[in-house]
Amino acid sequence: MAGSNGNGKAVPAAYPPPVQSPDEFVKHGLDGEDEIIEVGIAIVGGGTAGLACANRILQLLAEDAEAGGDLLERLGEVPVAVIEKAKTCGGHNLSGAVIRPEPLQELFPDLSREDWRKEGFAFGEVHKEAVYLTPTAKRSVRIPTPPPFKNHGNEIVSVSALARFQQRIAEEAGAYILTETSATQLIIEEGRVVGVRSGDKGRGKEGQELGNFEPGTDIKAQFTVLAEGCWGSLTGAAIREFDLGKDREPQVWELGVKEVWKVTKPLDRLIHTMGPWPLKLSSKYGQVGGSWIYPMKDEKTGDDLVSIGFVVELDYADATTSVHDLLQLFKTHPLVKKILDGGERVGWGAKALPGGGYWSMPKLTMPGALLVGDSAGMVDTLALKGVHHSIKSGILAGETIVDALKIGATSIEAYEQAVEESSIGKELYEVRNGRQPLQQGLIKGGPISGLAQITKGKLPPGKLAWHRNDGVPMFIGDTKDSYPKPDGKYTFDKLSSVFITGNATRDDAPNHIRVQKRVPREVAETWVWMCPAGVYEIPEDEPAEGIVDVTVNYTNCVQCGAITAKGGRLTTPEGGDGPLYQLT
Ligand SMILES: Cc1cc2nc3c(=O)[nH]c(=O)nc-3n(C[C@H](O)[C@H](O)[C@H](O)COP(=O)(O)OP(=O)(O)OC[C@H]3O[C@@H](n4cnc5c(N)ncnc54)[C@H](O)[C@@H]3O)c2cc1C
Ligand code: SF4
Repeated sequence: MAGSNGNGKAVPAAYPPPVQSPDEFVKHGLDGEDEIIEVGIAIVGGGTAGLACANRILQLLAEDAEAGGDLLERLGEVPVAVIEKAKTCGGHNLSGAVIRPEPLQELFPDLSREDWRKEGFAFGEVHKEAVYLTPTAKRSVRIPTPPPFKNHGNEIVSVSALARFQQRIAEEAGAYILTETSATQLIIEEGRVVGVRSGDKGRGKEGQELGNFEPGTDIKAQFTVLAEGCWGSLTGAAIREFDLGKDREPQVWELGVKEVWKVTKPLDRLIHTMGPWPLKLSSKYGQVGGSWIYPMKDEKTGDDLVSIGFVVELDYADATTSVHDLLQLFKTHPLVKKILDGGERVGWGAKALPGGGYWSMPKLTMPGALLVGDSAGMVDTLALKGVHHSIKSGILAGETIVDALKIGATSIEAYEQAVEESSIGKELYEVRNGRQPLQQGLIKGGPISGLAQITKGKLPPGKLAWHRNDGVPMFIGDTKDSYPKPDGKYTFDKLSSVFITGNATRDDAPNHIRVQKRVPREVAETWVWMCPAGVYEIPEDEPAEGIVDVTVNYTNCVQCGAITAKGGRLTTPEGGDGPLYQLT
């Protein structure tokens, strides 16, 4: 890396992305009647949350029809439409994932956990688990399992495979699933969300219409569900337009990089490590994170698989922090080597997740629309758990909408209370103050975080504040010096990793990544190192300090969303672009 010896400090927030949010992501008024597609309920995002919502609505509509109701007719020819930008549902979904099973059991009561495994999205119940500290690159010390890491009885899944399964069930029940379709604008009429606009297809680099150009369409809906996951463009627009973040703490983010390995011998337990290695303990680096290693027994193929990943809060200050490279380094620890050695990497991916928890959750409803899952920030990052909240919120959203339809009501505000009184509200409230103290570093913040966890958020009293990730001054440190040189067999570089995601972004697609192209070196280096897909580069001949040019190879982007936390903006690319995850 040329000249990574900048010595100043620069705050990414001082270099905001060139985005005109209200104009770009909100459309006021629908096109004429003959130019629009009309659906009953539009769900933006075919991930775990959106598809849980679709399936619950379809179950309720079927029950209503059996009881002689007319809800289906009232919703029109397309009662439920799911709009998903990936090639297929699951293509853009990634998680650890060990999940609390109850919401999925509630959604599909006729399926046993054995059925889940036969379907190929679940990989076994957790019977044994272990948590380690890793003081150095060689040592590990097992510790009693802290409460957030207790996973006995939970299930290991792939959310990518789970989404594909949920898509099939929803389609069989009558959902219209528009894959390879990005929703690019929220449509608002007289203060109410009345649908979304799908993105154009077939535009060139400069936005010009190519030979295969297809314009987007207004999709009019009686109710709209925003299930975009982390950093949705329409969710952001809705939060701004309806002031949903008023009196809430800012959202903060984490980035996880994951690999799936086929291993030679089965792993018999679920493992978490809490560092400090390979992160730096000194608070000046601002690094907080940890790892997971989960056994996955594939009942369909008989393969023994392992999910391994590293997650870091995007609150760090050393610009050379790279979660991808930290995962590669982590794999060189003897604790990990004895699990993976002799095996083969079969999957890789990266994704950000919202970390603010209870106090950062926006208001969940607005006229005509609501938020579910990661769009609503429903993740407990102490336990690294969001899948069950995503499913539960999808269920509650579906029930609220159907209740409103039954009585001809236009308001779906009841969803707020339903979430608050459900397991989502209760669980997230208990850990409401557990994560914020760690923004002061592990040594200073660790004991306060512990106190908040033991007292279930009662001490320290009140609402603990978050500071924004993009407000952290960045410096060029030495975290990079520890990364291993990839050998292509056990440790990998970013580009070969992106390759195995099946990423298929058109070379002449318009740029969907918005960043300023001339920024201080500290900010540019932050993007270069942070991006797991190697999208950002600083040309060799740029000065060692001061303002530098940044080039953006956006066709490599795996849409992890991290850039939005550190001064840039991921906007929705053309439908069908991006990775095609299978097992993540
Ligand atoms: C690294 C990592 C590890 C995790 N580990 C665990 C774990 O072990 N256990 C656990 O319970 N939770 C875990 N979580 C959290 C959990 O994965 C999430 O909370 C959950 O998967 C979110 O589901 P979702 O449906 O809300 O969002 P997503 O899965 O992100 O789905 C959103 C979907 O919307 C689509 N989309 C977005 N915008 C648009 C648009 N404008 N138009 C069309 N489509 C759009 C996306 O392509 C995507 O398919 C982890 C998360 C990460 C990132
Ligand atoms: S360009 Fe941004 S959103 Fe895309 S992979 Fe890199 S950090 Fe993630």
